[in-house]
Amino acid sequence: MADPARKRPADTSHLTAEQFKVTQKHRTEPPFSGAYWDEKRPGTYACVVCAAPLFSSAHKYDSGTGWPSFWQPVAPGAVGTKSDRSLFMRRTEVHCAACGAHQGHVFPDGPKPTGLRYCINSAALTLRPAEPEIERGLDEGPDARGDGPAAG
Ligand SMILES: [Zn+2]
Repeated sequence: MADPARKRPADTSHLTAEQFKVTQKHRTEPPFSGAYWDEKRPGTYACVVCAAPLFSSAHKYDSGTGWPSFWQPVAPGAVGTKSDRSLFMRRTEVHCAACGAHQGHVFPDGPKPTGLRYCINSAALTLRPAEPEIERGLDEGPDARGDGPAAG
């Protein structure tokens, strides 16, 4: 039976070695080592492989574990789960529902209202910071970046 999520291999040519190991080989980055465990900016966390939105800063919290932690995905069905019995532990693996990239694990010791802790590798995510309203409409054209000589 064909699994629609596995229809074709995801393009991983843009990944770093660390991102490849985590998302494709189910490795776990060392705690407190990733880019996002202490990230506080508002925005959407997308799959580093296929750019599908997976988590939101609105659901991120400080779990003290050294990995980015969320109490729910950005939308129902954004991530998939499956039972992981490796290392003689029973855990629930979390992956991108769109491309199957490994993200981390989900544990039943999170905060309310879900009681879940999605423990995710920074290397599996890319943060798209939310843009302040005031910048809307100013980001078009090559002059908007302000690369020219500084005045004053
Ligand atoms: Zn993905």
